[in-house]
Order: sequence, then structure tokens, then C-alpha cells
Amino acid sequence: MSLSDLAPNHIRSIAPYVPGKPIAELAREFGLDESAIVKLASNENPLGIGPRARQAMLAAMDELARYPDGNGFELKAKIASRFGVAANQIVLGNGSNDILELAARTFLGPNDSVVYSQYSFAVYPLATQAVGARGIEVRAQDYGHDLPAMLAAIAPDTKMVFIANPNNPTGTLCRPGDLVEFMESCPAHVLVVLDEAYTEFLPAEKRVDAIGLMRQFPNLIVSRTLSKAYGLAGLRIGFGLASLEVAELMNRVRQPFNVNLLAQAAAVAALDDLDFLRQTVANNAAGMVQITDALMKLDLPFIPSYGNFVTFHVGDGAALNRFMLERGVIIRPLASYGMKNSLRVSIGLPAENARFIDVLTEAMDA
Ligand code: PMP
Repeated sequence: MSLSDLAPNHIRSIAPYVPGKPIAELAREFGLDESAIVKLASNENPLGIGPRARQAMLAAMDELARYPDGNGFELKAKIASRFGVAANQIVLGNGSNDILELAARTFLGPNDSVVYSQYSFAVYPLATQAVGARGIEVRAQDYGHDLPAMLAAIAPDTKMVFIANPNNPTGTLCRPGDLVEFMESCPAHVLVVLDEAYTEFLPAEKRVDAIGLMRQFPNLIVSRTLSKAYGLAGLRIGFGLASLEVAELMNRVRQPFNVNLLAQAAAVAALDDLDFLRQTVANNAAGMVQITDALMKLDLPFIPSYGNFVTFHVGDGAALNRFMLERGVIIRPLASYGMKNSLRVSIGLPAENARFIDVLTEAMDA
């Protein structure tokens, strides 16, 4: 018997999450200079952290010998006023990944099933499997969520549905009306986790009023993050918005100090830094045009994206990924999503996008 036999089957069969390659790791592996490496692999904010968040963290440094506020009073007050919810409808997370896992750990067990889409965020099957629940993967339609098929896939033992909107890694978006229809038809005893990690990048008319929907449908959990548009990926801060009953249960399962002190201070400031948010969204829109124009010129098909990244298709995904890594450009191969000839590139600064385009062009000419 080996020690791994002690873990239940559903744990032993988990395929680990594959993150974007860190800059330092590529530098070590290929003997490259870190400063010459461009990382467009994890949908991070290329503008870095915002000035207000930086200031708030510096001011909070002296408090670090203390535990953070386990109830996140100040941050919850900020989120409550910004998004029009009550403080006790908020669950703070160590990244929104924590919210997704908390939802699973709070509500699911080995006799339950969970519906999610093919090509949707890898953490949904992971969180499902980690609690021993059964995943029901619904075939994607044009790389996006097929909401009617997901509705039809709800089984008697289904307790949860995950929807990423926009979706990562494909960048697809559900129409607001379709999401409303989905909620209207979804049984009230099935929790729907609407993961809006990239919602800030959407133009207003494409956005569903998720918080309004949550008021109407107490089985809806809305997940948000400060890792993307707010530029705080390394700090790990996200939050869930839910009905009182749901939030209260998730807060019982949550680690008492899951969100660290710097993260809380930075998030309060970042949520107010609308200038930085605007700059981020503008940089993304321009970079999206820069990259998709280049893909079109190179005749490489891509999935039109509503996020801060775009997925494109090539003849040999692994070979292109290797070619790019050797030249210091890190993008995300999607083989772990069952898309072995697709790669996802995050939108960077204009010069980073240009570097990506140059190396891609070189690869296509090679
Ligand atoms: N949801 C989606 C759709 C994502 O793409 C990501 C990040 N890759 C997350 C959630 C989790 O992000 P974080 O934990 O940094 O908030």
C-alpha cells in the first residue's frame, strides 16, 4: 500500500491545474534574461497595480504583524456601496478561485452532480471533483456555453451549475437575455454560480445585470475578482455576492482569515480607482485590435473574445508554443482543455503585443 492509496479515488484522479509558466521558470529553463521575457499567459493586468492600491498597501505595511479583519468590514462596506448589496450578502475570497471552491465545499458532496460547459474554466471540474461530486460537461456551442443544453443536462442530483461570462479560455459571452431566460427556467433548488471574472472589460450593453438577477433569484451566486481589470492577481482577492442564506453558509466554511491584510487594504482603494480601471479597459480594447488584426493578416483563425485575451488556432499548437518559449514569449497552450492546436494570448502593453506578433510572424514564416 502506498500513502496515496489513503486518498479517495476522486482525489487521486484529479488532473492538476496547469498555470501559465512563470517568467523566472522560463528564464531558468532556457537561460534567458528575465527582463527580455514577455508573459502573456495568465490574463493579468499589463499596466501593473494601480496607484491607489499601491499607496494603500504601503500604508498598511506597518499593520502586518496583526491578523487581518476576518470579517473584512471595510472592504465589505466598499463592495456593498459600490454594487448595491448588503454587507452580509458578500463572501470575500482569496482570489475568486476561493469563491468557486467555497461554493462547491459548502453545498456539494459525493451524491451530487454539477453542470458546466466544455471549454469553460478548468477550476469548475477541479472544485467538483475535489468534493467527490460528479461533473456533467455539456458540449460547447461555437466554443461558448450552450445554455439550453446545460438546462437540459440538469439531473435529479444536480445541485450546481457553473457559468463563466465571459468565458475563459475561449472569450465567449452569453447574451444577457439568454442568461435571464436560463435563470427563469433553472429549478430554484439548483445553485447557479455566475463567474464574472472579466466583466469589467465588457461594454455596458453586453453586460447582464447579474446583481439584479441575484435579487430576483436567490439561487444565483455572482463571483467577481480583482485579479484582472483591477490588477491585483498576485495579492489574491475576489468576492462572491449571494442571497443572505447562501452567503451565510459560505462564510461558515471560509477560513477565518482567508483574505490577507494587504489584499483587503488594496482592494478598498482599487475599487475606487476608476481612472486606472478606465485606462486598463482602454489598453485592452486597443491591444485586442492590435492582436486580432495581426491574426487576420496571418490568416490564423481566432475566437472573437470579450475578455482580456484571445484564443487562436494553428496547425501544431505544441510546436508553436515551443517556438515562442525559446524566444521568450509565454502564452498559454490549451491542450489541457482538449484544444491542442489552440493557444490563448493575453492582451499586453502595445510593445508586448508587438513582440508577440513579431515572434508569431517569424514562426509562420519558418
Ligand atoms: N474565473 C475565471 C473565468 C478565470 O479565468 C479566473 C482566472 N484565470 C478565475 C476565475 C480565478 O481568478 P482569481 O482566483 O485570480 O480571482
